[in-house]
Amino acid sequence: MAFHLAPSDSIELVQYIAPTPIPEPYWVGFSESVARLLEIPCQDGLPLNPEYLQLLAGNQTQLVTEGKTFAPFATAYSGHQFGVWAGRLGDGRAIYLGDIQGQEVQLKGAGQTAYSRMGDGRAVLRSSIREFLCSEAMHALGVPTSRALAVVGSDMAVARETLETAAVCTRVAPSFLRIGHIEHYGQNQMHDALRLTLDHLIEHHYPECANESTPYLKLLEQIAVRTARMVAQWQSLGFCHGVLNTDNTSLLGLTLDYGPFGFLDNFQIDHICNHSDQGGRYAYHRQPEILHWNLYCLASAMLLPLQEELQRVHGCSEEASIEMIKSTLDQFNREYALHWQSLFRRKLGLKTALAEDLPLLEQLMQALHQHQIDYTLFFRNLSEGLGVPHALETWYERYAQRLEIETESQDQRLEQMCHVNPKYILRNHLAQRAIERAQKKDFSEVQKLLKILESPFATQAVSEEYTQGPPPELAHLPISCSS
Ligand code: AMP
Ligand code: MG
Repeated sequence: MAFHLAPSDSIELVQYIAPTPIPEPYWVGFSESVARLLEIPCQDGLPLNPEYLQLLAGNQTQLVTEGKTFAPFATAYSGHQFGVWAGRLGDGRAIYLGDIQGQEVQLKGAGQTAYSRMGDGRAVLRSSIREFLCSEAMHALGVPTSRALAVVGSDMAVARETLETAAVCTRVAPSFLRIGHIEHYGQNQMHDALRLTLDHLIEHHYPECANESTPYLKLLEQIAVRTARMVAQWQSLGFCHGVLNTDNTSLLGLTLDYGPFGFLDNFQIDHICNHSDQGGRYAYHRQPEILHWNLYCLASAMLLPLQEELQRVHGCSEEASIEMIKSTLDQFNREYALHWQSLFRRKLGLKTALAEDLPLLEQLMQALHQHQIDYTLFFRNLSEGLGVPHALETWYERYAQRLEIETESQDQRLEQMCHVNPKYILRNHLAQRAIERAQKKDFSEVQKLLKILESPFATQAVSEEYTQGPPPELAHLPISCSS
């Protein structure tokens, strides 16, 4: 972890702090797939070693029987929230346990840290279940994301709009570094921390940059490329993040910090999933431009090392450096457009790429929006050869004509389309049902939903309701930042 390379243990960088225990923890959800990644032996769907329950509750920092001791810590970062500089934020409720099998492991909701500001350092059961299920759903959909090993609950009360109970979500990623970390070091002239972190990123996560003449510029480009591909995937799946602040934006191009996220039910191009986002800054159709904006924040934060490198290698003036940095950031738009088109061609089963595909796609988006068609069901029904709703027949005729150029058989095409157009996504009302049962201590629906979402493309022997949009009374569940 980069923080261990740090020249000092200033609170502006890191705070070594143990989680605050919670009373009488119990398992709410557990992912065997993530356990395998961490090489944690399991039996009957839970760790073989019973100490894990206390470890992941934040009640102990050792695995006595395995001779392992962790040195937990929280990190400082800053960031732009809703487009405005917010100053120092940091891990206010997420505490790093340490590394397991080369993955960083964090306990989210593990109590206060130096960065908690006014917060209680806790997460509620509701939001922990949402983060757990969505992390694993996104992974199964092929989207780069932090993973979630477990949710551990406790009857301890936590005050939000109403009284709720506490939970800890164990999340896992190759790195939890955010744009906000770089902004923090840049803003506070923490030059050593800035360079060490950039070098750490190159060494461990972007080795392709190491032998470039300008490694930092290459790093910026590669972060932009990964971010562009990630958001193109979000758009193609109808995923809205909800709070795309720079402190929630991964430096590895991972989907991070699941809060008031949502998958589109009926397609609405300007859908806002976050109840607190009145201006719609993070609406579905704005996500790519917002991430591009966030990358500008990243570039400004690492301006000094970038300029120094460009001056030394290419003899660039300040102005010339800035031009090079800007054109590097333009890669985002190119990469996004390419990836978006390629993903949507796959959704429609188009192997060849024609200029006329773009207007065909645009016509489809407009029709889906205008007629409020369920986004996931539309593409899945198309993939299962079930045709389209009446309102889309004009579009369908054009699409059918376009298909004549393709050389594959219809069966082959439909099969491939079923591998990219999911049948099962984490719709809000499905998450809500699992949450309400969990609040009554029945955790079976959390685990059932996890299993379904782990194979989103296969038709499973489960009730049709897992594929359907919400009933009208559950179509607009208010999901806010208060988690
Ligand atoms: P978020 O909107 O969840 O990404 O959080 C933004 C910032 O607020 C981060 O620095 C979080 O660590 C912090 N934060 C959010 N909720 C809490 C809480 N309950 N207690 C302490 N810090 C929190
Ligand atoms: Mg956050």
